[in-house]
Amino acid sequence: MQIAFDNSYARLPDRFFRPMAPTPVAEPHLIALNEALANSLGLDSAALRSTEGLGVLSGNALPEGANPLAQAYAGHQFGGWVPQLGDGRAILLGEVIDNDGIRRDIQLKGAGPTPFSRNGDGRAWLGPVLREYIVSEAMFALGIPTTRALAAVSTGERVQRERAYPGGVLTRVASSHIRVGTFQFFAARQDDEALRLLMEHVITRHYPEAEGALGLLKAVVAAQARLIAKWMGVGFIHGVMNTDNVSVAGETIDYGPCAFMDNYHPDTVFSSIDRYGRYAYRKQPEIAVWNLAQFATALLPLIGGDYKKAVEDATEAVQGFADVFSDEWDKVFTAKLGLTSQREDDSALAYELLTHMAKGNADFTRTFGAISGDDPAVAAEEFDQPDAFLDWLPRWLARASEDGPELARIARMQATNPALIPRNHRIEEAIQAGVRGDFAPFDRLNKALSTPFDAPIEAPDLTLAPLPKEVVQQTFCGT
Ligand code: AMP
Ligand code: MG
Repeated sequence: MQIAFDNSYARLPDRFFRPMAPTPVAEPHLIALNEALANSLGLDSAALRSTEGLGVLSGNALPEGANPLAQAYAGHQFGGWVPQLGDGRAILLGEVIDNDGIRRDIQLKGAGPTPFSRNGDGRAWLGPVLREYIVSEAMFALGIPTTRALAAVSTGERVQRERAYPGGVLTRVASSHIRVGTFQFFAARQDDEALRLLMEHVITRHYPEAEGALGLLKAVVAAQARLIAKWMGVGFIHGVMNTDNVSVAGETIDYGPCAFMDNYHPDTVFSSIDRYGRYAYRKQPEIAVWNLAQFATALLPLIGGDYKKAVEDATEAVQGFADVFSDEWDKVFTAKLGLTSQREDDSALAYELLTHMAKGNADFTRTFGAISGDDPAVAAEEFDQPDAFLDWLPRWLARASEDGPELARIARMQATNPALIPRNHRIEEAIQAGVRGDFAPFDRLNKALSTPFDAPIEAPDLTLAPLPKEVVQQTFCGT
């Protein structure tokens, strides 16, 4: 198994990580291999499917050139400071340069205990492995920055949670696994030297045009603002926006109790541990700013100069979120309405539709999908009370007609509003079948989600909202 590793993180000082090899598993089986991703990483799919490749993907064998390690980080979890977290069940094998020249981490998640496992077993059961595979790859297909899933394997071992479940390992690919919490880890220890090295590493790797700590802060703020606006545009709720789950590269990372909304409501929350709705759909931009303020605080020692001035500059940089977010939100939602020009009242038109959707219990994806068809009035079926929507409809159509012919608008909207999202009840169904050893629903869902803008001719059922009895109320933290 030849992998052209070039491990830049492993070259950072010892206190950035602990060297740690994966713990072998009893009986690995390949559940899924993402061949397109493997190719883009310059990896040989056939080799990955071989016994030797399976060994690598399950943690039973180390490929030549790997530098297995667990990364150190800290973080604010639900607002509370935790000075040491770190990879408790993930092991970075190393980095490769992909076909586009971009450096990518290859990490095994669920690969066994590490010095950062605290009381955890270092393992993952199939549920979170399949969920992360489905949702991260769906995000990618939707055009939203995200970590990716290269492979999922079952381990032949049981993992004890509320009950015993089959274990799994996910091979995750990311442009890095460096988090806001990685900076916080060193800031809390007043290790300015490590902070500087980390900053230089991140600038080289992700933001080569950024100048110094303030430049980096602005770049990360902008990347997060654009990312969160894109989440809002597909009804995605991350569920655990803790600072240790915020990638400084601006990718969606750590898919735990996340979900895409069915019925639109801005207060929707999914995580069973998010009792106060801290990470509800509508709160995501606000909480991102909170997280970025923690990032700014960690960077303060590097901004230098007069302390008061540094605080002012950092504050201003974080406040820059609002403009980038609102520009991107307008772009995302006016595109969802098929508009090409942006006029004064366009975001109000989008907000108005959302308000009617919330009042009328309309399905987010189906409503935007229906207004993207040749008869947008059929979207009325999505609303309990369609009157307000039917009042909005001709005003929107009149506005949209100013941006060109109807057929072109329909084509634009169908390329913008997905026909398919990974709905929670379908993910649950795929997990439950997977736990029984049947991966057909998982494969079918992944295949359909790889082209989310095409009406799935072979799987029209996947576009349906859940029946009341199918609704998954909450997703559990799922570790
Ligand atoms: P997460 O909720 O997945 O973002 O994880 C939060 C922290 O808990 C991270 O430091 C993880 O590495 C750690 N963690 C989660 N699950 C486990 C587990 N089963 N064993 C050890 N550490 C874990
Ligand atoms: Mg995490």
